[in-house]
Amino acid sequence: MQKDINSFCESVGQPPDRFRTIQIHPTKKCNLTCLHCYSSSAPGYHDVLDLANLKSFLAYAFDNGFNNISVSGGEPFLYKDLEELLQFSRSIGYQNTLASNGMLLRSERAKRILDFVDLIAISVDGPQPLHDKIRNQAGAFDKMCQGLEVLKDLDKPFGIIHTLTPESWTSLIWLGEFAASNGAKLLQLHPLEMYGRALDTLTSEAIDDDLAHKMFILGHYLVSKYSDQLVVQLDMLHRDYLLAHPQIVSGFERSCGQSGKLADLLDTIVIEESGTILPVSYGFNPRYSIGNISNFSMSAFEDFERQSIPDIKDIFKNTLSRIAEYGTRDIVNWNELLIEESHRSMEVGIEI
Ligand code: SF4
Repeated sequence: MQKDINSFCESVGQPPDRFRTIQIHPTKKCNLTCLHCYSSSAPGYHDVLDLANLKSFLAYAFDNGFNNISVSGGEPFLYKDLEELLQFSRSIGYQNTLASNGMLLRSERAKRILDFVDLIAISVDGPQPLHDKIRNQAGAFDKMCQGLEVLKDLDKPFGIIHTLTPESWTSLIWLGEFAASNGAKLLQLHPLEMYGRALDTLTSEAIDDDLAHKMFILGHYLVSKYSDQLVVQLDMLHRDYLLAHPQIVSGFERSCGQSGKLADLLDTIVIEESGTILPVSYGFNPRYSIGNISNFSMSAFEDFERQSIPDIKDIFKNTLSRIAEYGTRDIVNWNELLIEESHRSMEVGIEI
């Protein structure tokens, strides 16, 4: 979510609330097959985004108010054109951020690429036995730690991203210490969501309300404990707080339409590995797609604003109404509910 990168940027001396992000998933190829992978990435994938199409779209989107790219995947360091992509995006004014499993950072190529990276987030699932289990590979923790050493040697600002599971929440105190002692600027705690491979491998690990409360309390303990060392970002909100401050998560609530550009309304758009451009988040209903980078037109954003923004505003509004009606859930993963609502609106035939 946009506020994550804002917190991260603030922690490394960048002004907050200035980023409008394009999340790029250039490939589903990965050196791992993590149990919780929301994109079901794996070593066997070979399709990648076409660099020329990507460059054209990025130039167009920059002129329309987007100014930050966040490259993930799959594992971004397996994207053959990553160096050229980052060189290009920086040359036209984008801030470059990456999310990586941190295992492929020791090569000379990786170090060259890191030269064009402003911020990098590394996934850590817990202490070594748990990390290796979730990453589905013995030795993954040790290789990730070697990657952190590379980042420290290069003095590259980095954060830690952790997926909260019923098995991992008891390691939160360890995780805070791990992040702080390694010099991370950000610790992002994101609850497990039932998408991709998690649907096959972790269905018994769904987070119930009782567990969400425990994570929420521990997460806030870490916020306070490390407030002078790093930003701890918890991707769960208390329902009452969210209802009182919907502008935290909704560009529609925040926007005064200053520039009349799409980036005023949507903090984030996503380019999937197929080239499809989605609003809001990975997993959002493709019915609301902005187009595809292989054939987008120079009026793509204007067409999308006219045709789909009213529907998406309704999805935001409906999500808030559902949260207000929740009798039993106090702790809310806003992003997950929003994606759910984008699909639900079609299932129940809501007039949108
Ligand atoms: S979670 Fe990340 S590192 Fe793991 S398989 Fe998916 S893309 Fe690869």
